[in-house]
Amino acid sequence: MSAAAPDRAEVSRRRDTLDGDGRRAPVTVVGAGWSGLAAAVALRDRGLPVRLIDSAPQAGGRARGLAITLAGRTVRLDNGQHLMVGAYRDSLALARRVGMAHDALRRSPMRLVAADGLSLSAPPLPAPLHLAAGLIGARGLTWPDRWALLRCLGGLRLRGWPAPAPQTTVAQWLAAQRQPEALRRRFWVPLCVAMLNTPAPQACAATFVRVLRDTLGAPRGDSDFLLAAHSLDEVLPAPAIKHLQAHGAQVCLRTTARGLRMQPEGAGWSVDTGEGLLPASGVILAVPAPAQARLVAGLPGAQAEAIAARLAGIDHEPIATLYLAWPADRPLPAPELCMLTENPARGAHGQWFFDRGEQQGLRLAAVVVSAAAEAAHAREALTEGIVAQLRAQLALPAPLDTRLVVERRATLRCTPDRPRVHAHAVDSLTLPWPGLWLAGEQAWPDYPGTLEAAVRSGRAAAAAAASHLAEH
Ligand SMILES: Cc1cc2nc3c(=O)[nH]c(=O)nc-3n(C[C@H](O)[C@H](O)[C@H](O)COP(=O)(O)OP(=O)(O)OC[C@H]3O[C@@H](n4cnc5c(N)ncnc54)[C@H](O)[C@@H]3O)c2cc1C
Repeated sequence: MSAAAPDRAEVSRRRDTLDGDGRRAPVTVVGAGWSGLAAAVALRDRGLPVRLIDSAPQAGGRARGLAITLAGRTVRLDNGQHLMVGAYRDSLALARRVGMAHDALRRSPMRLVAADGLSLSAPPLPAPLHLAAGLIGARGLTWPDRWALLRCLGGLRLRGWPAPAPQTTVAQWLAAQRQPEALRRRFWVPLCVAMLNTPAPQACAATFVRVLRDTLGAPRGDSDFLLAAHSLDEVLPAPAIKHLQAHGAQVCLRTTARGLRMQPEGAGWSVDTGEGLLPASGVILAVPAPAQARLVAGLPGAQAEAIAARLAGIDHEPIATLYLAWPADRPLPAPELCMLTENPARGAHGQWFFDRGEQQGLRLAAVVVSAAAEAAHAREALTEGIVAQLRAQLALPAPLDTRLVVERRATLRCTPDRPRVHAHAVDSLTLPWPGLWLAGEQAWPDYPGTLEAAVRSGRAAAAAAASHLAEH
């Protein structure tokens, strides 16, 4: 990625050229995370001129590659472990569209293996038989628990996955489904945290049921697991930037949108980068909700303050990822993906273990801790607790080295009362600024903060921009 920040002279030269030629200024996408990349590619596919800017030196946002030093060697990993599923249709289509290498993602049928003996996998049968057979054949569950799970998922399917009442939390919903306590603790609660990055007592039941419908209730391939073979960077950010540049989009990294100016009489926009003004025929704000709030707060109009306040009201949850390295010749007696038994009182905060294969003579693994804000603060204790947990639960030896990566605002907190953001509205407040759209994980209102929500939101914002520009 050789994209660089435009200097002041370049910014004004671009403006002059565009003004002088009378060409339409590009649509400016602010943010080159997965939502901004999706928006930029969709705009180029519709033949519109595009400029993509991001304050960071690389694209990918919260799902980006990261060079990490472990045991004195630099390895390519990610800022956090990401799991995709077969239901991520838009993300997978986008990655294919921009030329992701065929081996950048590893796909495998859904298989849940837990350190406490629970094991559930979907045999190669057509849906819903794969799920029924998987539940009946599950190991490590009592028959009453198996039956309760089958009754719950089978009932949901038969009734067409009815949405729970709007303010219901996952904990309340599980109680209403009469799910036994052990099954909640061992299966449902970890699944909720993994899918929504929000603890069950606060998490939105309607969103939870929607994700269950789209994975467990869908054709078998939709519940497949997909993991980056090496780094997320190779799945989308790097090929997307290459694709955009090859198709004539301007990519400006290390370029921050500090303010937005609406030109009078619908004459477009300017994005203030602090180095100059970038002209834009429209702007897609594909940045996290707090940055959207800051940027719209400065816009004219009676609703600006209310919209900014709603966006600023979106809360977030952290995710901590502990990377561990062993010598490459040391076999790891653990499944490739394994659910750990969480026991915060004993410092066992690890939730999921991922084998990350070999690099640079090292055997690598990642342990994920989602939605555990307090644990993420005590970095040393968290690391020590997880190393002890891996020894106790998976019989893993002490690693050569570890590295903890904490994303404090990893995803939105998926509560029932979170603001619902669309490309042109926040809750019932329609954006009063023609030519400005919102994207980002928070702007696909029916989903949790995920890659797929981000990509769908970017595509939706691009579609809105294209139809607006076709009319003006
Ligand atoms: C550790 C971790 C684990 C995760 N695990 C999963 C998972 O397993 N599965 C899953 O589906 N999702 C997962 N997620 C969530 C997923 O990464 C996010 O939902 C998604 O990346 C959000 O994309 P986005 O484009 O909305 O925002 P971002 O990725 O945050 O992109 C926004 C971009 O805007 C830029 N920016 C911000 N302000 C400005 C400004 N003023 N001017 C210019 N640029 C600006 C930022 O630099 C950033 O690049 C995880 C997230 C984390 C952090």
